[in-house]
Order: sequence, then C-alpha cells, then structure tokens
Amino acid sequence: MIMALPRKVKETAEWKRASGEFSVITVPAAILSLKTFAKIQKDAEKILGEEGAAVLLYEAGKDAGKTWISRFHDEWGLREAENEFIRAAEEFYAELGWGKFSIDIEHRTISIKNSFIARSYGKGEAKKPVCHFLCGYNASLITELINKVVDVEERKCMAKGDRYCEFIAVNP
Ligand SMILES: [Zn+2]
Repeated sequence: MIMALPRKVKETAEWKRASGEFSVITVPAAILSLKTFAKIQKDAEKILGEEGAAVLLYEAGKDAGKTWISRFHDEWGLREAENEFIRAAEEFYAELGWGKFSIDIEHRTISIKNSFIARSYGKGEAKKPVCHFLCGYNASLITELINKVVDVEERKCMAKGDRYCEFIAVNP
C-alpha cells in the first residue's frame, strides 16, 4: 500500500528515549554537529589524502542515498508521483538541515544552497568542491529518478566561494 506523502520529518521521526535510539522513516539515525562532520572530513583528508578522502565520502554518500531513497520509494511510491516525490524529497532534506535542494531532472542537475558540508567546511575556505558525501548521495538520487546508473560531479561549491553547490550527472 502506498502511503500519503509524509512531508514533515517530525511525522516520520521516532524517538525512543528509554533505549536512546532515534529513527527517521524507520532508518536508524543520529544527529551530528556540522563541526564534527567537518573534523572527520578534514582529518580523513590529512590521513588518506584529498583524493582518498573524496572517494571514501563519495562511496559513503552513495550508500546512504540508496538506503534513504529506497525508504522514500517504499513509503511514498516514487514512480507513481515523480514530481510530487521530488518536491517532498527537497522539503525533507531542508528539514534535515542538509541544505536547500533544487532537483532538475531534465538537466540531471541538483543545486544545493547552504549544503551542510560546505557550511561545516566554511564558506570560501576551499579551493576545490568539498561536498563529496552529497555528491555520492546525489548520484544515487539521480540514478533512482532516471532509472539509469550515473556518477555525479560537483562543479560549483559554496566552500570554494560559489553561491551554491551544483551537482551534474555524468556517465559512469
Ligand atoms: Zn559543495
């Protein structure tokens, strides 16, 4: 059965104070500060090199994307309501604090204003795009929406001084 689109995070969130667990649309989750995320990424860059850290975070993002998008798909019925699904997903990420997503399926492009990674890294702090986790995540998102496997490149990034981050699908 396809449920009505749950548009608010709080409608799908479940807090279990007694056991210290939290989930969103039944996916076990935890809340991390932006500062902690930036610390993990910057340390990974020191330990693994920028390229190694980028691959690690991209793959983690892709995996997270698959998990969440399959939950959206099961709960919301993706193909039956594509535009509605896209709007609901954009709203959902905004509520999670991930940034303001604009998903343009025709051009296979996703723009994000105030990406949580760029914000955690520091606006204008980087020379290259840094939102590798969201890049991998968006690869899974576009793959699911167009039903074709793609990789995604981040061409603009708020962390290197652009007004927003821009992710474009490329062939794998
Ligand atoms: Zn970025």
